[in-house]
Amino acid sequence: QVNWTGTRVTVAGLGVSGVPAARVLRGLGARVTVVNDGDDERSRQQAAELEALGVTVRLGDGATLPESTELVVTTPGWQPDKPLFRAAAEAGVPVWGDVELAWRLRGPDAAPWLAVTGTNGKTTTVRMLAAILEAAGLRTAAVGNIGVSVLDAVLAEQREDAEPYDVLAVELSSYQLHWAPSLRAHSATVLNLAPDHLDWHGSMEAYAADKGRIYRGNTIACVYNAADKATEELVRAADVEEGCRAIGFTLGPPAPSQLGVVDGILVDRAFVADRQKQAQELAEVSDVNPPVPHNIANALAAAALARAYGVEPRAVRDGLRAFRPEPHRIARVAEIGGVTYIDDSKATNTHAAEASLTAYDSVVWIAGGLAKGATFDELVAAASGRLRGAVLMGADRALIREALTRHAPDVPVAELGRTDTGAMAAAVREAAALARPGDTVLLAPACASMDMFVNYGKRGEAFAEAVRELGAGHGGQG
Ligand code: ADP
Repeated sequence: QVNWTGTRVTVAGLGVSGVPAARVLRGLGARVTVVNDGDDERSRQQAAELEALGVTVRLGDGATLPESTELVVTTPGWQPDKPLFRAAAEAGVPVWGDVELAWRLRGPDAAPWLAVTGTNGKTTTVRMLAAILEAAGLRTAAVGNIGVSVLDAVLAEQREDAEPYDVLAVELSSYQLHWAPSLRAHSATVLNLAPDHLDWHGSMEAYAADKGRIYRGNTIACVYNAADKATEELVRAADVEEGCRAIGFTLGPPAPSQLGVVDGILVDRAFVADRQKQAQELAEVSDVNPPVPHNIANALAAAALARAYGVEPRAVRDGLRAFRPEPHRIARVAEIGGVTYIDDSKATNTHAAEASLTAYDSVVWIAGGLAKGATFDELVAAASGRLRGAVLMGADRALIREALTRHAPDVPVAELGRTDTGAMAAAVREAAALARPGDTVLLAPACASMDMFVNYGKRGEAFAEAVRELGAGHGGQG
């Protein structure tokens, strides 16, 4: 436990993580200075709020470490090679992220964490897990990268009138894990590993190592994806508490110490209480919403964490049935003229887009945007047999077109150069023209949205709106 009174803490960055961190630390009696790169209207407003509490704010200077800093608390998004961190390392000053701060502020009776990371599927899995824990009658919350921050959850726990949580379902990004050296989860999972955010981490190895930190110090279970060897290797490399088990999940029949699928049933061969039984049935595949392969994998991971915590099979089934997916993740928008329109705008990288493209037999694919340094050969090669056509838009569309030319030369491609507000409607019309009854028109961009849209949510809304217009033109929709 730190005695915060008078401790000189530098908070790196304002924003959704820095402002609450500064406020909390100030409330604990620390002497807080916030350093921030930007000096815009919004930063000034946030600075004024904090200054009123006695926090010092330096705008337009995020590089200089204030004199006699004893601790840096950083916004997780700040890249590790920034000069501020070099200065901290030279001065021997520790750097914590928001998750580390939350972890250190936990009280002695704080709820254990069931933690989830991975390149894709984090939010979905954490929400499924929370639904399962709730179905088991436990007091819990889905926290982390979603809605409530871990810091808020930890502070809420400590209010005098608070009803304590039994357990928390925590989503953690690779950035947060990078800055969380002392975090120790009850049980945790890395759902999958594919190249993403490599500019931030510097290399695939560094990215994997940061993800792998989630297993360090686990007490009960390290849950890995049996179809993704890299996740299993991270478990093997992890320094865990004695007795902590490696538990796999697979879409096929499970080996001992795994969860998997047999004849349309999710089964558990890891946490079987009844010695007479080899496996415990948990739920039906049709209880998973939607029951596409990568989402069944998410459900198995959530079930594994819940079972590690001691949740009964029945609550796994009830929780999965109660779960409702977040918007823009394989959301069925409409059926028009026998063609189903699906919004997977959240597929912002190639790994996610591959998962959704390969879930359908015959697809007209709407893709493009900002590639963030990705290459598309693997994705297009994996999906080529399922593509009826492709409609490409956005800044990096040429990269996808070139991959299509190489791996799927017979697939018709429509390309849109326009980026105005009507561009998505034009793309949907092009896609409708390419589709035949029974096909799926799938928005799975494999790219970030910011070249044309505020965020992936707005991109998905534009798609849904365009599909509704199309349906109105058809005189009705399913
Ligand atoms: P995250 O929080 O990691 O971004 P989400 O649950 O929000 O994950 O899902 C993001 C996108 O990733 C979805 O739109 C879907 O296309 C894809 N996805 C979800 N789960 C998986 C998975 N297990 N493997 C691959 N892709 C996935």
